[in-house]
Amino acid sequence: MIRLQKTDYLQILSHARACLPEEACGLLAGRCEGEEARVEAVYLLENADHSPTHFTIAPQEQLKAILDMRARGLELLGNWHSHPETPSRPSAEDVRLALDPTASYLILSLAENEPVLRSFRIMDGRAEQEELQIEE
Ligand SMILES: [Zn+2]
Repeated sequence: MIRLQKTDYLQILSHARACLPEEACGLLAGRCEGEEARVEAVYLLENADHSPTHFTIAPQEQLKAILDMRARGLELLGNWHSHPETPSRPSAEDVRLALDPTASYLILSLAENEPVLRSFRIMDGRAEQEELQIEE
């Protein structure tokens, strides 16, 4: 299970909306306690693909974020990206490109009136939804 602060969720949401019609993306860092991950830093990073259906986190920004996490003593917990026109579940490409079974993959769908954010673990070509709690 992964916990996310409401303020961090709202940052992701407003960045994703500002990036429309392109997919938005970024990284999540924090701490793990047993089976529970707590997000303590959200990174809003450039989608180098500038595409409505694909994303690649710009490598330079990714590196800067990783260095910032290290400096703050946080672990990389996973990443997030938006789906401007499709539901909150990993696409075939998302599954194919997900190489870390320990990471959380958060997908924010903006396809409906209400945004939908879900978290997934992806392993051996299969995605499983993970419990996500947004905390006030
Ligand atoms: Zn996707």
